[in-house]
Amino acid sequence: MTSAIAFDNSYSRMPSGFSSAQQPTPVAQPGLIAINDALAAQLGINAEWLRSPEGLSVLAGNAIPEGATPIATVYAGHQFGSYNPQLGDGRAILLGEVVDRDGARMDVQLKGAGPTPYSRGGDGRSPIGPVVREYLISEAMHTLGVPTTRALAAVTTGEAVVRNQMEPGAILTRIASSHLRVGTVQFFSASGDKDKLNALVSHVLARHYPQHSGDNPALALLEAVVAAQARLIAYWQLLGFIHGVMNTDNMLLCGETVDYGPCAFMDSFHPDTVFSSIDHGGRYAYRNQPGIGHWNLSVLAQALLPVIADDPDTAVALAQASVDRYPELFMEAHSQGLATKLGLAALSEEDTEQVEALFTLMADESLDFTLTFRHLTDLAAHDEAAHGIGDLAPESARLNAWIAQWQERLAVDPQSKRDRHAAMRRANPVFIPRNHLVQEAISAAEGGDFGPFHALNTRWQQPFDYDAADRRLATPPLPEQRVHQTFCG
Ligand code: AMP
Ligand code: MG
Ligand code: MG
Repeated sequence: MTSAIAFDNSYSRMPSGFSSAQQPTPVAQPGLIAINDALAAQLGINAEWLRSPEGLSVLAGNAIPEGATPIATVYAGHQFGSYNPQLGDGRAILLGEVVDRDGARMDVQLKGAGPTPYSRGGDGRSPIGPVVREYLISEAMHTLGVPTTRALAAVTTGEAVVRNQMEPGAILTRIASSHLRVGTVQFFSASGDKDKLNALVSHVLARHYPQHSGDNPALALLEAVVAAQARLIAYWQLLGFIHGVMNTDNMLLCGETVDYGPCAFMDSFHPDTVFSSIDHGGRYAYRNQPGIGHWNLSVLAQALLPVIADDPDTAVALAQASVDRYPELFMEAHSQGLATKLGLAALSEEDTEQVEALFTLMADESLDFTLTFRHLTDLAAHDEAAHGIGDLAPESARLNAWIAQWQERLAVDPQSKRDRHAAMRRANPVFIPRNHLVQEAISAAEGGDFGPFHALNTRWQQPFDYDAADRRLATPPLPEQRVHQTFCG
């Protein structure tokens, strides 16, 4: 078998200062956890080769495949609101890029592949827990229809990493349209080198938003990222996904979800929900995500000012107008998504009140976010024999009263019952990566058992089809199973 990765690298050819050449540090004993066959096929990479000893050494950083130009990229970023001028890939190494079968250029990155110049004292490694978590949740997000980085492979290293205790090490092969961030723009803006900032803008615009050209590339980029992030964060809200660490170095210019460190899906609904152990003030709570998105985009706008216009007042006016579009774009995407989740063609002014009443009662009664919407989906079924979630449906007198009103509203909605139910099913999954299940897979993996990981990964590839045989995986955690905190890893 020939080395099956057809690299076509562009970022490593940027002017000096964008990245540092960095080889992965070899590991003791690579072991296979998983290969993502469908994604490998999409990338034109031979999955059998990935499984071979040669492929495994590449995934572990023990061999550099032909055509790779391994680099660590530099960036800056606001972390919990404070500017950090010098960040970078501290434990991730970009092997290069491939052009997939749809013509899209994708980064191939090893996460956990050893120290880089940006490690700042960190070990550059990753425990197996965060690797299992990112693989499972990022792939589930993809199946749920959310723009996201992907997981091509996961391997064990045969080495321990030191965290609170010794933990087995692992490496994730992460795929992204690119890993370029708001923080990347911040870094080159802060450097004061306009040529480099312009080079970055051209690269990102040509790569992610070629249709957004025009005579002001920096403004075109800002507009495109504002729209992409408004849409992305609407998806998160509609699924009860809490990212947990929306620092500007974790916001990708391509609009994909990245950094699955402390993220979690909500079980019972409450807008103030926070899982991350380091988010003491609740800055990144569920209800704050849309606003933080706006804040991060104003940071991007600020960083782009020098290349938006020479005259500062003009630059500010243009950038401000662009960022000001965010609330409307977010509301549009969110409102349309909610309409679909509720079986309506669109939400009217009066509907908004009813929707708010639903969220209030869900919060008051601690109803499960996912199962509440799935229950409504069952109630809207086009035939009574449809396979519903049965007694998993949340029970609440207040919810029943709300449902009676909602059913009156459905009666005047223009969609056919069949179309409505089909759309609701696709918008309201039944199997989501619940935290206690992710935790189960992590604990088993730490003990060398990847059975739960594979079972969950398979289940979450069909999140919309309920199967009573997997009832346990659709059930919210019991109080003693509930995970209250997540950690960055
Ligand atoms: P994160 O919180 O994962 O977004 O990481 C923030 C910064 O810390 C990034 O610049 C990472 O590259 C760096 N970092 C995180 N974990 C490690 C580690 N184990 N070793 C070295 N650098 C790390
Ligand atoms: Mg990060
Ligand atoms: Mg992280």
